Amino acid sequence: MKKIHLKKHKEESLLRFHPWVFSGAIARTEGQPEEGDLVSVWSADGLCLGTGHWQEGSIAVRILAFGTDTLPADFWEQRLSAAYRMRCGLGLVRPDNNAYRLVHGEGDFLPGLIADVYDDTAVVQAHSAGMHRARRQIAEALVRIVPAVKNVYYKSEGTLPLRRHFSDIADGYLTGGESTCLALENGLSFGIDWLRGQKTGFFLDQRENRALVERYSAGRRVLNMFCYTGGFSVYALRGGAELVHSVDSSEKAVELVNRNVERNFPGCSRHQAFCEEAFAYLSSLQTDAGTPRRPYDLIILDPPAFAKHRGAIKNALQGYKRLNAKAFELIAPGGILFTFSCSQAVDKDMFRLAVFSAAAMTGRKVRILHQLHQPQDHPINIYHPEGEYLKGLVLYVE
Ligand code: SAH
Repeated sequence: MKKIHLKKHKEESLLRFHPWVFSGAIARTEGQPEEGDLVSVWSADGLCLGTGHWQEGSIAVRILAFGTDTLPADFWEQRLSAAYRMRCGLGLVRPDNNAYRLVHGEGDFLPGLIADVYDDTAVVQAHSAGMHRARRQIAEALVRIVPAVKNVYYKSEGTLPLRRHFSDIADGYLTGGESTCLALENGLSFGIDWLRGQKTGFFLDQRENRALVERYSAGRRVLNMFCYTGGFSVYALRGGAELVHSVDSSEKAVELVNRNVERNFPGCSRHQAFCEEAFAYLSSLQTDAGTPRRPYDLIILDPPAFAKHRGAIKNALQGYKRLNAKAFELIAPGGILFTFSCSQAVDKDMFRLAVFSAAAMTGRKVRILHQLHQPQDHPINIYHPEGEYLKGLVLYVE
């Protein structure tokens, strides 16, 4: 195996099980590693620190196994079955819940790999060259380990860095190819379009937070802003909402939410979807005199990541502040606001400060009821705090 030798004292983070080796920590390489090669990593004192995938760029190695320079022959089986056992043990794999994240990168000790299961199909996404090269072994292990999975769809065209190194990255099925494209989440049925949808086709990370929306929806008028497939809307309807309005700027999302509502509540007259830009929609609720009507008792704001990297944090915080201020202006007294950020670069304190500033701007009396985060199938490896990305607040607005 090719070897990576670190500079003096650069082994400390690896001894604490942080799985990344930054290029600046490397003294020299032995054997000219290529994109996605397995390499072993050594301290300046000759201690073997671990084995991982090599890649050009600032994160040069992603460690798969610490303290060893070999991987067992059944490495993929071992790791994937540990991930599957965990989901089963947590009660996520049930007849009424067959959609869950099976592999969450570093959170499952598989840096660079995402796998989401939708009933009989797993959608696999590689974020590193090493995972791309291992995709067939991963797919074979997956169908052996997860009894329900018959199809493995590979979707990495949009996520793989340094695509120029590979000519074989097209999205497509690695195994099977026939599915109903339906999955159940807490007994609700959703159509999942992994071919054309965003990410792997569905945002599994909001499952627990949707269930909380359901608990608060009875008799309330609900606005689900940035609705995408309408997960929050369908739960709110099941929770007895008086009406639910779903808003997204994408036509396709509006089609998806309408179909998912119809699938669960045929002929439902409590739901309406609008294809509109968020700020334009919220501003349209102001009256001619400039004072807002307050037509909603429960508002969900789940926007796309406003900051995709650290350089964008300042603008992102401004964006969260403006958006939340609109919601505070519009929500009825006694209303409940679910507000989220999925920007990894914006931590929970920064996000809370942005929401605080928004509340202060509008002068509403606001109290925190819940602090939300990503669910248990998106675990955060305690040695890799960068894995924490989703945060939310549930606020009571008087
Ligand atoms: N809440 C969703 C996930 C939201 S993903 C769920 O539970 O599944 C973010 C969504 O915001 C996408 O569907 C995208 O089309 C939409 N979006 C992005 N920018 C927007 C804007 N300015 N106004 C309205 N919708 C927007």
